[in-house]
Amino acid sequence: MSLRLPLDAAVAADFSVAAALGRGLPCSCGRTHRTRLRAFAVEAEVERRVPELVREWGYRKPFLVMDANTERVQGAAVRRALAAAGFAAPGFVFPDAELVPDESALERLEAAAATAADGVDLWIAVGSGTLNDLVRYVAWRRGQPYLVVATAPSMDGYASGVSPLIIDRMKQTLNAQSPLAILADPNVLAAAPERLLAAGVGDVLGKYSALADWELGHIVTGEIYCPFIVARVARSRDAVLAARRAIRRREVAAVTELFNALIEVGIGMDYQGNSRPASGAEHHLSHFWEMQQLLAGRHAPPHGIQVAYGALLTAGLWQALPATCPVTEGALTHAGDREAWERGIRRIYGPAAPPVLALAEAESLHDPGLRRERLAAIRANWSRIYALRDLLPQRAELEAAYRDIGLPLAASDIEVSPERERDGLIWARDLRSRYTIFRLHEDLGLSTVLDER
Ligand SMILES: [Zn+2]
Ligand SMILES: [Zn+2]
Repeated sequence: MSLRLPLDAAVAADFSVAAALGRGLPCSCGRTHRTRLRAFAVEAEVERRVPELVREWGYRKPFLVMDANTERVQGAAVRRALAAAGFAAPGFVFPDAELVPDESALERLEAAAATAADGVDLWIAVGSGTLNDLVRYVAWRRGQPYLVVATAPSMDGYASGVSPLIIDRMKQTLNAQSPLAILADPNVLAAAPERLLAAGVGDVLGKYSALADWELGHIVTGEIYCPFIVARVARSRDAVLAARRAIRRREVAAVTELFNALIEVGIGMDYQGNSRPASGAEHHLSHFWEMQQLLAGRHAPPHGIQVAYGALLTAGLWQALPATCPVTEGALTHAGDREAWERGIRRIYGPAAPPVLALAEAESLHDPGLRRERLAAIRANWSRIYALRDLLPQRAELEAAYRDIGLPLAASDIEVSPERERDGLIWARDLRSRYTIFRLHEDLGLSTVLDER
């Protein structure tokens, strides 16, 4: 397939993951986009591809990582395929019923790899979110490549080069190895647990909110924005919305569509160099709740399920914007109450407050001069900002879609109390410096409305 270059929104519809593999593509945003991914296949009996790629790329000592579930659905077949091709393929099977990506899991993985008699020159993960986060982090620390055989279409991080891990009971995003190959058997994907299918859909539907936030940030702060990536992510997202009922019925073509969308979004992040195309205020809410659940010693619901609920709330924040620009002369000189903010951060984040405060300092988030510049940009561009509301469905429309796939409609569905829901709306913005609908509300003084609810 020939691809018209440089990339722009108009060619997004003709683009495929296969066209992206192993090549740099000049883009109308001024950059050359590139992914490290060299192979991508979604096909029946995909385990046969594993020894082919290992051999083609010249590796001799693959190390297989899975858990008891993924061993049953796919891992044992991968092991057999490697053995039949003459690879010893030692490995490790996590016995945990609910695997947690923490120090203990990392230590066990390192210890298991140390017992591989001939060493390791390639890591192979058979699994989904948590398992991959662990393997790609260990592979990165050891400077070794990694590939994944995916078992569930549950999140958009398969192509990612970072791992969210829990270190000292805090969720942290650490550098990790991005995969050389992503392989999946569509029949295995379609048999994934129902809540993982819903989580994958939730992570993708969160992109309405994420993309609106990105354009908002571009308008208000001038940050770089790529119409090609946006068009790709939006196209994947719309395909998943349309396929949601068939996904719930586990139709193989629809589940494959979901998986493709998750990989496309992941490549979008690779192209951008960070998670901006995939993550805005709805993700900050999910991270906030997950941190609170961890601090309380509870296991959090799957990421995409929390993101979906976050996206319901951010849709409400967009709808709450007034039609006339609320920036007044007074707002331009109002400095905000820095001390009250800091007290609030210490109260809400507790032991996790220091990095949140440090981030605000490092990124000058309370600098009055920068705030004045943002308010001036908001005032000059209010009609464009207000029009971004049309990029998102109304909350009621989202809820109707959520019913079709079994996504949460209330905070209690994700084990979040009404107090924590409200805290998230006020304080989740401070987890990241990224400009979002939260920061717009803050700049406009609309967040005090939330304070008083
Ligand atoms: Zn671009
Ligand atoms: Zn996500």
